[in-house]
Amino acid sequence: MAEKTLFEKIRDRELPAEILHEDDLCLAFKDISPQAPTHWLVIPKKPIPRVAEATTEDQAVLGHLLLTAGKIARKAGFAESGFRLVINNGPDGGEAVPHLHVHLLAGRPLTWPPG
Ligand code: 5GP
Repeated sequence: MAEKTLFEKIRDRELPAEILHEDDLCLAFKDISPQAPTHWLVIPKKPIPRVAEATTEDQAVLGHLLLTAGKIARKAGFAESGFRLVINNGPDGGEAVPHLHVHLLAGRPLTWPPG
């Protein structure tokens, strides 16, 4: 069996994290190195490595990640001030953890384009 990703270990409570939301398909927790006053990660429970490797089988999960990120951003009061969702893919995309995750950044004005 393949070794678990870092985020699977968080999913399985083998590593600690501040978990904000959990349901059948996904988990949301605080990023360990926040790049904004609010920086959360929303991951699928299924270890899809990255968007480029998702398949049509993953369509419902991918939609669920965005809906969940929007819901928790709204619940935290960022609907009006705004927030940013980011998915890094591969080396040039800045991906460090090979387990798909949506970054939710909020709490300060974010510049564009990102670095
Ligand atoms: P990526 O660069 O792959 O898009 O993002 C990986 C993210 O995971 C980074 O923002 C990094 O700070 C976060 N991260 C790395 N290790 C841990 C960890 O052990 N716990 C938590 N909560 N976040 C982590």
